[in-house]
Amino acid sequence: MNILPIGEVDRVLLEMLQDRLSELPFKVSIIKKGAIIPEKSYNAKRDQYDCSHFLKLVHKYPGDKVLGIADVDLYVEPLNFVFGQAEMSGKAAVISLYRLKGEKELFESRTVKEAVHELGHTLGLGHCKDASCVMHFSNCLEETDIKGETLCEICGKELKNKTRFL
Ligand SMILES: [Zn+2]
Ligand SMILES: [Zn+2]
Repeated sequence: MNILPIGEVDRVLLEMLQDRLSELPFKVSIIKKGAIIPEKSYNAKRDQYDCSHFLKLVHKYPGDKVLGIADVDLYVEPLNFVFGQAEMSGKAAVISLYRLKGEKELFESRTVKEAVHELGHTLGLGHCKDASCVMHFSNCLEETDIKGETLCEICGKELKNKTRFL
């Protein structure tokens, strides 16, 4: 699994994430060179960036799973904004740090949750009804803060089944 910084992203945060993601069933590396923000993604009317361009970009990078991280405000039609997006059972995932900011520990924890959530989608996991499960859909930071950094028992079992042959 590779982490791809897109645009300016805090190195210390990337290393924190690399560390905390090591619980997942793959080796985590950071693509040091990073990528630049896809030019066409900027929507001046909204003053936001279209997440689909980021996913396409991330998809081109090597790795069985690649997680792009950006520090700009992302959206996907018809939503006002997204914390992230992923290819279901695919390769690419993207998260934005833009709306996760807060006091250090909280910011780090939110970043881990959104990263694990989107990577969960790439591993074939859907949304979970359990509000404390990392695969619960969060529409706002309150919901992100309520959920944990890990999978609930049911999602954990499902992931084990799905990754048995990886
Ligand atoms: Zn989701
Ligand atoms: Zn769950």
